[in-house]
Amino acid sequence: MVSSVSAPPSSSSTPSFTLPTKTSPGTGSVSFPRARESRKCGARMATVRAEAVDTTISPRVSALRPSKTMAITDQATALRQAGVPVIGLAAGEPDFDTPTVIAEAGMNAIRDGATRYTPNAGTLELRKAICKKLQEENGLSYTPDQVLVSNGAKQCITQAVLAVCSPGDEVLIPAPYWVSYPEMARLAGATPVILPTSISDNYLLRPESLASVINENSRILILCSPSNPTGSVYPKELLEEIAAIVRKHPRLLVLSDEIYEHIIYQPAKHTSFASLPGMWERTLTVNGFSKAFAMTGWRLGYLAAPKHFVSACGKIQSQYTSGASSISQKAGLAALNLGYAGGEAVSTMVKAFQERRDYLVRSFGELSGVKISEPQGAFYLFIDFSSYYGSEVEGFGTIKDSESLCMFLLEKAQGCTCPWGCIWR
Ligand code: PMP
Repeated sequence: MVSSVSAPPSSSSTPSFTLPTKTSPGTGSVSFPRARESRKCGARMATVRAEAVDTTISPRVSALRPSKTMAITDQATALRQAGVPVIGLAAGEPDFDTPTVIAEAGMNAIRDGATRYTPNAGTLELRKAICKKLQEENGLSYTPDQVLVSNGAKQCITQAVLAVCSPGDEVLIPAPYWVSYPEMARLAGATPVILPTSISDNYLLRPESLASVINENSRILILCSPSNPTGSVYPKELLEEIAAIVRKHPRLLVLSDEIYEHIIYQPAKHTSFASLPGMWERTLTVNGFSKAFAMTGWRLGYLAAPKHFVSACGKIQSQYTSGASSISQKAGLAALNLGYAGGEAVSTMVKAFQERRDYLVRSFGELSGVKISEPQGAFYLFIDFSSYYGSEVEGFGTIKDSESLCMFLLEKAQGCTCPWGCIWR
C-alpha cells in the first residue's frame, strides 16, 4: 500500500510538499520523491522542491571540529569488520573487559527491573557512594546534591563549560591536550587559549606561563592529571603554585579532569585540585568509570562541585539527555564497591599498563633522535619524533611527513617480540 500525506491546498506563497512514502511494507524501504517531480495525490497535485530546503547549519556547529579520535576509531572498526587486522590506537580505551563483578551488577540490574528513568542527577545510592569515594580517596567533602552523574565524563565537561562560559570568555588549556577540550569551549561560544608546555618540563604547565595569560575574560583553566595524551601527573607542589595564581582571579574556575586518577605509576601520587586550600569553591571535579574500570561503553561519569555549578549543569542535562543509564549506574555502584582505588581488579590492569609502558619507553628509547617524557600515569605515550622529519633514514628513505613516519615505525614493528601477541609477530 502506498500512503502519502499532502500539504493543505497550496496557495502561491505556501510551498507544497509530500512526506516520504513507504513503498514496500515488507522491506520497510522508504522512497523519497525526486526534486521538481509532480505526483498525483488523490485528486490533488503536489509539487516537491527539494532545493528549497535551507541547509544552513548553525555557526555554533559549523565552527566545531568533529572528534578526530572518534572518526579514526569508526574507520578502524569498519576496516576490522572488513577483515583487515587493525590495532586501534585513537580512542583512549583499555583493552580489558569490564571486571566481572561490575558486568554482573549491570546484568542483575536488568533482571531486577532497574530499567526505568533515574533522577536526573543520578540515583541517590550512586551519588552517596561517589561522595564516600571522594571523601576517602581524595579528601574531598561533597554532599549528594553537589554531585551530578552523566553519560560519561565527556558530557560532564561539555555541560560544565556550557554552564559557566559566555561568548568572549576564555578557556585556558595546557598543551598537549585531549582534543575535545577546545571544541567544548567553542561550542559554548568561548575562546580556547592554548598554553604551550615543553618536554623538558614533562609537559606540565609552568605557573609563570599561566600567570602571563590570565585576564578578565579567563573563565576556566582545564587541568588533566594524569594527562591524556602525555601521561604526566601534576605533583602536589606544582598544583599549589598554580592554586596561588588562580586564587588572585575571582572569575577563574578550574576544571580538574581526574578520569585517569587510578591509572598511576609509583612513585607518582594523585592530588585532587579541589583539596588544596581555597580551591574547593572554584573547582569543578570531573571523574568517571570509563578508564580505570574498563567501562567505556557503559557511558558513566560524574561532576562534583559547589551546588550552584552542579545545579546549572543539571539544568542542561535535564533538557538534554536526562539521567544516565539506570543499568550503568548499578554497575558503577558495583565498581565503587570494589574497594580503595578499585581494589585488585583495577590494580591488575594498572600493573599490565605499567609493564607495557616500561616496554615501550625502553623500545622507543632505543631509536636514535626520539625524545620521551616517561608517563607517570594514564595509558598513553606522547613521543617526540620531530628530529625525524625531513631526515634520511638508512634503509628506509626520507621521512617527509607523518604518513612516512608511520610507515617507518610499522616497518620497525615487523617481527615485534613484545609479550602481548601483537599482529606483527
Ligand atoms: N577526559 C579525558 C582526558 C579523556 O581522555 C576522556 C576519554 N577519552 C574523557 C574525559 C571522557 O571519558 P568518558 O566520556 O568515556 O567518561
